[in-house]
Amino acid sequence: MSRACVVQKYGGSSVADVTRIRAVAARIVATRRSGFDVVVVVSAMGNTTNELLALAEQISPSPGRRELDLLISVGERVSMTLLAMAIQELGEPAQSFTGSQSGIITDTRHVNAAVEEVRPYRIQRALDEGQIAIVAGFQGVSRTGEVTTLGRGGSDTTAVVLTAALGAEYCEICSDVDGVYTADPRTVSAASKIDELPLDSAIDMAQAGSKVLLAEALHQAKTHGVTLSASATAKPSGSGTRVVPTPPSSNIVGIAADIGLCLVPPEAPLAEFDGSIRGRLPDGRTLVDERNLPPLATWAVPARPIATVSAIGREAVSNPAVFERAVHAVTAIDPDVCWWSHGQTLSFLVDRSHAADTERALHNALIVSTL
Ligand code: ASP
Ligand code: MG
Repeated sequence: MSRACVVQKYGGSSVADVTRIRAVAARIVATRRSGFDVVVVVSAMGNTTNELLALAEQISPSPGRRELDLLISVGERVSMTLLAMAIQELGEPAQSFTGSQSGIITDTRHVNAAVEEVRPYRIQRALDEGQIAIVAGFQGVSRTGEVTTLGRGGSDTTAVVLTAALGAEYCEICSDVDGVYTADPRTVSAASKIDELPLDSAIDMAQAGSKVLLAEALHQAKTHGVTLSASATAKPSGSGTRVVPTPPSSNIVGIAADIGLCLVPPEAPLAEFDGSIRGRLPDGRTLVDERNLPPLATWAVPARPIATVSAIGREAVSNPAVFERAVHAVTAIDPDVCWWSHGQTLSFLVDRSHAADTERALHNALIVSTL
């Protein structure tokens, strides 16, 4: 009789060194011994991906994307093999698989590929043989056999698409934070953990810059009806945030800041910002995401580093009193701030140096004051 299957994803900080890899192995083995088939998706150890990118940059200011993909896919191959060995040391059978071996088929857009199909035959076979399957996150293979990667943070996407393809019960995203908070707890000490978060609100939070669950992974969860949760690696399953398929919340769910954005002037050659455009302001300036682009210093146009700070929840855009409170709180920091609403989100464009203060002020005005 086949058993229920769960997918667990461990982020880079959870496998940053040998001690932590052993702790993750013990958590996986505990899940297995509680009666589940377990598939694990793992990120690269600690800061490995950045270190590999920095090495490439020392060789070439604009390395070819095919080589870059092969290079940065190495990080997850290191962590997956070490984790499989650590599990074997605890007495359970485990095998690791690259993205290609796991049947993660993508398009050909190197460094930012999209998953087109998942054929997890080898994973399924390993499970049938009683193995714990460890999968390298963040990578796939194109139909022409080239190694591709899914964009920064892409291991979450690997975990969600595998959960769907395997028909697993749920996908647990494990990291050093124990769930999604009402704001980033490192910036806003009054932030509190959200126990249950509607999927659409989680998508809005991620799009506004919240980093616990990634927007792409959440979109995939919505498309495939995957049940998702976020937990701390150091705590047992089920203690974090559950993402639920209920309608988005009408109250303010949270505040999120996105500090990786730049404003470029209307005359900028936008084709260069392929895939990174986040919006256009009424004055013609364009908001671009600098993360998947070359460093600012090498841009051909003057770009201003900025941040957006957003309040998520229908009230922020539909209740004039709430909207007034938000604007009042933010203009106390920067009187010239500009804002716009989209869907259930109210966003403020602020100088990057004001991002943290703005996040605290909005959290105070819209969440703390209503508790
Ligand atoms: N290692 C990759 C990154 O740092 C992918 C991931 O962590 O999900 O972006
Ligand atoms: Mg990550």
